[in-house]
Amino acid sequence: MKSRIYLRGNGIALCVVMVLLVVGCASPQSALQPRAVEEPQPLILISIDGFRHDYLDLHDAPNITALANSGVRSEGLIPVFPTLTFPNHYTIVTGLYPAQHGIVSNRFYDPELNRSFRYSNLEDAADSTWWGGEPIWITVRKQGLNSAVYFWPGSETVIDGLRPNFWYNYDGGVPGEERVDQALRWLELPSSERPSFIALYFSLVDETSHRHGPESAETAAAVAQVDGYIGRLVAGLTSRGLFDRTNILIVSDHGQADRDPEKVVYLEDYLDMSKLRFTERGPAAAFWADSSTVSDAYRKLNGIHPSMTVYTRDRMPARWRYEGSSRIPPIIAILDEGWTFGRRTDDNPRWHTGGDHGYDPMAESMKAVFVARGPAFKEGISIPEIESIHVYALMADILGIAPAPNQGSVSATRDARWPAQLSKNLAQ
Ligand SMILES: [Zn+2]
Repeated sequence: MKSRIYLRGNGIALCVVMVLLVVGCASPQSALQPRAVEEPQPLILISIDGFRHDYLDLHDAPNITALANSGVRSEGLIPVFPTLTFPNHYTIVTGLYPAQHGIVSNRFYDPELNRSFRYSNLEDAADSTWWGGEPIWITVRKQGLNSAVYFWPGSETVIDGLRPNFWYNYDGGVPGEERVDQALRWLELPSSERPSFIALYFSLVDETSHRHGPESAETAAAVAQVDGYIGRLVAGLTSRGLFDRTNILIVSDHGQADRDPEKVVYLEDYLDMSKLRFTERGPAAAFWADSSTVSDAYRKLNGIHPSMTVYTRDRMPARWRYEGSSRIPPIIAILDEGWTFGRRTDDNPRWHTGGDHGYDPMAESMKAVFVARGPAFKEGISIPEIESIHVYALMADILGIAPAPNQGSVSATRDARWPAQLSKNLAQ
């Protein structure tokens, strides 16, 4: 009866108790133990950039919904600060906060190197100077398994002398169907070459919801299109007899909030911008300056606008865990949901309509999706929110490999797992 502690909800617990006494409760075995599944059991990690936690309810995504219905859906995947694409994707695959894995934002300045990182710069993507920690595809390789990545921040660089066995330079023009078909081809390789871990990435939903807003018809169409890629993957796995033995994990880096064109903050109204060096703008502005300018800027900005909060490097909210790196900017000004920064000169109205992210990770609109389906996961359950810092430890546990040092915990996702399959460490 020890396994009962893993079950959530009185109804289910009562059902388990009743099953011990009488026959007739629906699928009693499925609440306690997995079906026997053949090896190998590959893990496919899929990121749908900007896929908010509630898109499965707002928009039509029959294939992802079917995975959730026969697997696990979390009420949300809580991103890390800042709620931007590069820091969050790299946290998902390393189990480290941005200050520890080094990708502290999409754009940032390193005062020790006196160099700046830009997420769109292909040289930065390949330069291991920027990328710390150990992504799961490297952990996989170090322990004798193969890994393949069809686009993911960090996958284009060498880490500890290794790369994924298969990887590509980022090219957003590669059709989603091709990415899926390549994943299926990898699974047909002889066992010595076949990846145990595959990652796929789709940017369409994020791009569309920036332009048109999270609840728009255009975003609904983008969700449907990416859902079609997932359907193609499931069909391909099924026709190869692999579907029920493959663990599929669908996540996102962050959600998306509506931008309100009436809610714009112009920093020039408060500051001499020429003395500041911006490394990131959007709902959260990060900037560098000499120390006297920094304290002057903080004095001028702090409390000046009711929808803007200003933090200095040594006073960030503790829950952000945004500390311990010289790459963290001296000042961050962050706006409430819906607000955006603008420029008095050279402004673009499109920056203030549609959708955006970069707000506080605890904002409802920033929460991302988490759907998991396969032999490692329970069937047809909903679990509470999970923080994305824990996904790396979960993946290592599913793959049966030892995780590199990380800041997540495999116990955070225990509700999603079969008690019998939890690693020995966790079950004790
Ligand atoms: Zn985005």
